[in-house]
Amino acid sequence: MPERTPYLAANWKMHKTVAEAEEFVDALLPKIGATGNDVVICPPFLALGEVVSRTRGSAVRVAAQNMHEAESGAFTGEVSAAMLLDLGADAVILGHSERRQYFGETDESLARKVPVALAAGLEPILCIGESEEARDAGQTEGVLERQLQADLAEVDPVEISRVVVAYEPIWAIGTGRTATPEQAQEAVAFARDVLRERGAEAERVRILYGGSVKPANAAELMAQPDIDGALVGGASLDPNDFAAIVEAA
Ligand code: PEP
Repeated sequence: MPERTPYLAANWKMHKTVAEAEEFVDALLPKIGATGNDVVICPPFLALGEVVSRTRGSAVRVAAQNMHEAESGAFTGEVSAAMLLDLGADAVILGHSERRQYFGETDESLARKVPVALAAGLEPILCIGESEEARDAGQTEGVLERQLQADLAEVDPVEISRVVVAYEPIWAIGTGRTATPEQAQEAVAFARDVLRERGAEAERVRILYGGSVKPANAAELMAQPDIDGALVGGASLDPNDFAAIVEAA
């Protein structure tokens, strides 16, 4: 079975000015040293360039939190893959539930964005996850399968191992209510099965868990056989907490 390098991503959402981002990076780098894990910071667009320069030569890579699928054009407020690459970004979060919930992100637009990111050489971190209502109605697997099939519809199966998938149950994001390790493992293993059926080399795909990951619960979640890391929101704002999560992997 291929080794999957643990992947820890810090999703800062709409937090931190450029100066605060610099302060964070300066505090984080000595704490994580030459970790063998993949460590990715996802700052707001305005701090992206500064985080790229400040992390150059370190183990840390940088991701944007969203991207438009067009090369350029009349899309006020949007940012293209080429612009992200130009700043030195390595990856991009796509389909975060907050984008789906508050900004009308759809599976149709994600089906366009994922291949554009891959073609540009950006690593997509594709977020999927069910609502509390869907879980209570026993529809978790149906939601995950529908999202994966739709969002990866235009991706060649051999390219799927270049996508990082983040399973983020909506009811666990920013709520302090973490999925149990068993719930998270079950959903992530199911997502891997869907990718396998889609023809992907599923054993190579990194699948993360996200939803109220903290230093206290990170090790237990990431010890699950199919969970390859974490997408961390709230706890990634503090360099000590995020470093502890990197260490826990
Ligand atoms: C997220 O932003 O993807 C997330 C999981 O947030 P939190 O860790 O705060 O739940």
